[in-house]
Amino acid sequence: MENEPERTSGAGVRADISVGTGADIADDEQAGSAADIDVVVIGAGIGGLYAVHRFRTDGLTVQAFEAADGVGGTWYHNRYPGARCDVESVDYSYSFADELQQEWDWSERYATQPEILEYLNHVADRFDLRRSIEFGTRVTAAHFDEATDLWNVTIEAARTDGAARGRRLTCRHCVFATGSLSVANFPEIPGLGDFTGRVLHTAQWPHETVDFTGLRVGVIGTGSSGIQLVPEVAREAASVTVFQRTPNYSIPAANRPIDDVERREQKATYGERRRKSRLSGGGSPFIPHEKNTLEVDAAERERVYEHSWNLGGVLFSKAFPDQMRDEHANQLAREFAERKIRSVIADQSVADHLIPTDHPIGTKRIVTDSGYFQTYNLDHVELVNLRRTPIDRITADGPVTVGGGDEAARLHELDVLIFATGFDAVTGAMDAIDTRGRDHRSLSAAWSDGVRSYLGLMVAGFPNLFLVNGPGSPGVLANMVLASEHHVDWIADTIGQLRSDGRRSIEPDENAQDDWMAECARLADQTLFPRADSWYLGANIPGKPRVFMLYPGGFGNYRKVVQELTDAGYEGFALR
Ligand code: FAD
Ligand code: NAP
Repeated sequence: MENEPERTSGAGVRADISVGTGADIADDEQAGSAADIDVVVIGAGIGGLYAVHRFRTDGLTVQAFEAADGVGGTWYHNRYPGARCDVESVDYSYSFADELQQEWDWSERYATQPEILEYLNHVADRFDLRRSIEFGTRVTAAHFDEATDLWNVTIEAARTDGAARGRRLTCRHCVFATGSLSVANFPEIPGLGDFTGRVLHTAQWPHETVDFTGLRVGVIGTGSSGIQLVPEVAREAASVTVFQRTPNYSIPAANRPIDDVERREQKATYGERRRKSRLSGGGSPFIPHEKNTLEVDAAERERVYEHSWNLGGVLFSKAFPDQMRDEHANQLAREFAERKIRSVIADQSVADHLIPTDHPIGTKRIVTDSGYFQTYNLDHVELVNLRRTPIDRITADGPVTVGGGDEAARLHELDVLIFATGFDAVTGAMDAIDTRGRDHRSLSAAWSDGVRSYLGLMVAGFPNLFLVNGPGSPGVLANMVLASEHHVDWIADTIGQLRSDGRRSIEPDENAQDDWMAECARLADQTLFPRADSWYLGANIPGKPRVFMLYPGGFGNYRKVVQELTDAGYEGFALR
């Protein structure tokens, strides 16, 4: 069955390699280059799709490889019930073609996964992108050849059930659009293999509808995926047991259909909306109150919180400009959120377990939900607090939690166990490729003490290797559609500059890279982000170095810095 959990993030079976098959791969390349192809793009999610379009428009020969059997990336893989965007659809969509913005009609404020996937398929068709993408194909290695300044890329069949046969091709530029949230985290829990029920992961969800009617369902994980999923599963299942290790802040989406009047207004003002988004901190056209939390009186503060709360979801973290920097300010926002959450939960002893106290609000992504906390008012939904009663092992019938407080050890009998346990974020998919730069040095080794990049776009020692939404970029702290477009445009402009200057390569200086990572750390230290054990810091993956992996200075500032360094003659880069 397609998309049943793999339980590993391995790169597939290695088979015979036949060298130099680039000629069969591209059907539209120009002859004459020493490389089989100008640019290889890895991944056909939002970033990879736009990369194919933009590079082709610039006259480059392009071949993309996608492990999945279709386009969409995140929206191809995460098909769990309840999956939606948490940035408004009208903003969480491409801006590169006004005709696309004008012709596509979003049906809801926060679109569902099927609608977003339909949109991305529409984009692929409209711009004829599929002819440059080979699906079901995983890039397993990318090695830089210092003699030719070319990348040797190895590809294999993505699924292990086929007759996997490796191939290689050479390219001048290699673009990793492999996704920050594309390698599922499947925690090792003793006995999981003994479980006789069905095991699912939100990030590897089956393509056919899963019917939970009459079933006893367990869900491990209460991040965005788990919190979106639980109310939907509870509508069908006989029982739902939520295994929560850490509670999360979640704010109602205030989702609603978009009517024709609103749609017309949005389309008429798209230009201004995008302009504001590009200048903003988070890549959508919202800005915090002009004053800090304690510069307004209590009544005004309440009014601002109420307004931000009603905007829905993640936007609450932008109520006041100092909310993510000042502990006291954050605490006031946290108290408001707690009052709101408590008000919808019938049993306050359950609410005690559901309200986070371990991290400042917003330091993990605030979840955007549709009726999550209210689900615990249903008799057939139970919360298990794993901090009190951890899972000891999984048996054939379900997880066994140890005793704790006045609770005895217990077997939770289940028919289905859903892992909503997140991702090896930011670096997982990049690390899975055997990437070798100068001196055959591996990317994993370069990142073994923590991720390093310059501007989130390139890594020292890896010439002509470009990252989309890489570590050191704003990543998910910004609207990732606009962020992807920004990265791809920079990469395309840079390749264009190299070509017009007759140069062969670009790579960052080690010193510039050190300074950039220091700047990311310095900015992070001015915020409360380091206070949470979040995936932003790699804290969700045992053994991963604890480094704040994103640029927390805001999308608008990030764009400005990148532009200034580029305009200054690619400051911090060596061009040859
Ligand atoms: P992806 O969409 O992850 O695509 C990467 C692709 O690369 C995948 O298809 C993968 O199969 C492929 N790939 C990886 N490695 C290889 C390889 N070695 N060989 C071949 N193919 C490979 N962000 C927001 O800004 N707003 C939101 O509302 C939002 N909602 C989200 C909801 C969910 C459920 C999740 C998981 C994430 C969400 N995000 C959101 C973040 C989201 O990941 C990005 O918005 C965006 O979709 C990322 O696009 P991408 O192209 O960079 O990566
Ligand atoms: P996540 O935020 O990392 O949450 C994973 C959950 O699984 C956490 O509750 C975590 O608990 C728990 N967990 C992990 N390992 C566990 C273990 N061994 N035992 C018990 N519990 C365990 O992952 P996610 O929910 O998939 O979301 C990841 C990101 O994707 C989000 O932050 C967001 O950026 C994006 N996303 C967005 C949306 C959206 O609304 N548009 C939806 C889904 C995802 P701990 O906290 O204790 O580690």
